[in-house]
Amino acid sequence: MIIDAHAHMMTAGMFKGMGVKPPKDFPQRMADSMQHTVEDNTKAWLEAMDRLGIEKTVFMSIAPLNEEFSSFINSSDRLIGFARSNPTLPDAIDVLKKELKMGMKGVKLYATSGEFNVGAKEAWPFYEFCEKNRIPITIHFGVTIGGKCDLYTGNPIHLSKVLSDFPDIRFSIAHFGAGFFREALMLKYKVENLYIESSGTNNWLPHQDNFLTLKDVFKKSIDVFGTQHMIFGTDTRIFPDGYREHILRQQQDILKELKLKDSEIEDIMYNNANTFLGQ
Ligand SMILES: [Zn+2]
Repeated sequence: MIIDAHAHMMTAGMFKGMGVKPPKDFPQRMADSMQHTVEDNTKAWLEAMDRLGIEKTVFMSIAPLNEEFSSFINSSDRLIGFARSNPTLPDAIDVLKKELKMGMKGVKLYATSGEFNVGAKEAWPFYEFCEKNRIPITIHFGVTIGGKCDLYTGNPIHLSKVLSDFPDIRFSIAHFGAGFFREALMLKYKVENLYIESSGTNNWLPHQDNFLTLKDVFKKSIDVFGTQHMIFGTDTRIFPDGYREHILRQQQDILKELKLKDSEIEDIMYNNANTFLGQ
């Protein structure tokens, strides 16, 4: 059984909701792919998930309070939605309450986008709310989010104090920290509430000052995080390129090459995501 803990669904309305126009050089096939309806998306996702043996997929919203995203994740209990939040805004909790009413089950923070610092004290009431309501939080640190990133706020080190002050919030670092792998490993020191997540093409690897392969990254993550705190994901957007089956296969192959027990592979591919989600 598989849970894909990181994916995206996008429509033209969601792009608009982000307050940005598609760039001029936006490939036509991407622009065309945005025109799919919620129903098109639900059908395509569930078909791909059935074919690949994926029970549930977690979708990271790119636009807050988006009706299309909400109706998508509410169209099947196999589709799980995470709200995009800025925890430092004065109305962050009010917006999240609305998102929860719209069906969201967790929060995604885009720390690399430079809008906020996850370690800013203004975010503490938001974290208190998440801890009290048992809401899991996934964070995108590091690169791989386009050219406009702020690697200062995108450094996972800012999460250090948050992890110790909120031991009952489950946090997940997406894409192995997308370049801040060393920092992600350091954060796990004597910390129980932190997960590391494998999604994406991992094209941050060439920007490291070492020669780690993706297999090395898996091995080191398992050494430090253990098989109970690693989560699988693909970061698929199904339109226009289809399900990222090659990433699923690549990561399954690595887990086999590392000679993990079947039960440990099942933890990484399925059970840990359920624990992280609180399900
Ligand atoms: Zn993503």
